[in-house]
Parts: sequence; C-alpha cells; structure tokens
Amino acid sequence: MKPFFGGNWKMQKLPDEVGEYFSKLQEQLKGTKDNYQAVVFASFPLIPSCIEQNKGSASVTVGAQNCHWEMSGTFTGEVSPELLKALGASAVIVGHSERRKYFSESDETCEKKLKAVLSCGLTALLCCGETWDERESGQAEAVVRRQLEVALAGVSSLNPGEKLVVAYEPVWAISAGPGSKSKPAENSDIEQMHQLVSDILVELELNETTRVIYGASVNPDNIAGIMAIKNVDGVLPGAASLDAEKFAQIILRGSTAFYDNL
Ligand code: PGA
Repeated sequence: MKPFFGGNWKMQKLPDEVGEYFSKLQEQLKGTKDNYQAVVFASFPLIPSCIEQNKGSASVTVGAQNCHWEMSGTFTGEVSPELLKALGASAVIVGHSERRKYFSESDETCEKKLKAVLSCGLTALLCCGETWDERESGQAEAVVRRQLEVALAGVSSLNPGEKLVVAYEPVWAISAGPGSKSKPAENSDIEQMHQLVSDILVELELNETTRVIYGASVNPDNIAGIMAIKNVDGVLPGAASLDAEKFAQIILRGSTAFYDNL
C-alpha cells in the first residue's frame, strides 16, 4: 500500500488562497512518482474550487472534514456524503477530536458516518486518540480501543473497493488543539499506540487494506523520524499543511522515509 498524507486545513483559508496553494503544491510535487496518496481536507464551500485548481494532479485529491450519515433528508445545515461524492471529493474525515469535543460527536455517530462514507465509495479517515487526562489516568489504550471497536462495528469486513484509513491523534499533542499541551508525543508513545491500533485492526479483520497514520504536530522536520516508526503508514498534519511548501516537503520526505523503512 502507498503511504497516505492528509492535509487538514480545519476552519482556515479563504477562496482567494486556493489557487496559489495548489499551484505551489503542484510545483513542489512536479515529477514525483505516483507512489503516495495525498488528500487536502478543505472546508465544504472551498471543495469545488480546490478540485478545480488541483486538476491534472495524479496523486493529490480533495476531501471533506466531516459529513452527515444520511444521503439526503431534513437535516438543516448538514452535508451528505453523496453530495461530497457528486462534487468530486475523494475522502472524508470522521471523528476528529475537535468534532468530538466541540460538536459532541460520539463513537456511535462515527460508526454511522463511517458506513455512509464507505458506501459512497469515498475513503473514510477515522480519527482516534486520547486526551491528556485519559493518558495520565492510564486510560489511553482503553479509550482508543473503545473508539475503534464502536466506530468500526458496522464495518466487519471491507467490501472490495472500500477504503479505510485510521489516524491515531493524541489530542494533547495536536498543535493549538483543545486540551493541547503543546507537547509532541515521544516516538516510543507513537510506536506503542500504533501497535495497539494495528492489533485491533487484526482482531477486526480489517488490517489487510487499512493504513494507520499519525497526526499531531507533524512538520517537515519530524516527518522522517515519524515515518520510520513501525506501523506508521502516513500522517495527517494540520497547521503545517496550511503552507503548500511544508505540506509538499512532508509528502516528499515522508514517502522517502516510508519506502526506506519497508
Ligand atoms: P496539527 O493538527 O498538525 O496542527 O497538530 C493535526 C490534526 O488536528 O489533525
């Protein structure tokens, strides 16, 4: 499987920044081999213009940061996975810690969203990860296990063509996130938690085609070290992905480190 690089823009960027971003990204990635998958996760209204500006790029696509679990209906203010698919989005993030914290997203709603996203043929990027308090009280592994077991309950085995990516994101290590300690995780912590996520995916028989990626304060300087950790198949940078050059460096250095460590 190719390594996966997601750029989570969060609620940032305006329409007039999109063109320059994608032309810089394409410039930096020009001539690269088709040996990675990269997705820019933009705010809903920016998705069509991101897709337009990204035209011609083989390895980069555009995704959404959330969606509803129904395909259509009376859900004022929501966006369906079917609409995202029709617009040309390739992937959707489900269960990001900011959605869990600020929008009361539960493991149960993650399960419904995950099934809906996969049923549309989109890639589902499920986030999991513990808060600082949960880590301090020895709950990190139990929390991540619960998040994955509940959210993946309806995905007992993937149908051909279904695409699942799991991101482990320790909430306390996300830059400027809720509950952030601005304290990067140690590589040994990342390794331990990625081993756990991989073991859970084996138990659920979802390991064959699922990539496990890391997210929290990833940047061009730490990417090579993170990609060298066992069971890390990619990353989900937030802050660093806002800068096209930094995101491109993460993709390029990350892919090299991934293949060097195979
Ligand atoms: P960060 O965000 O790279 O800015 O820490 C990661 C995320 O929240 O997905």
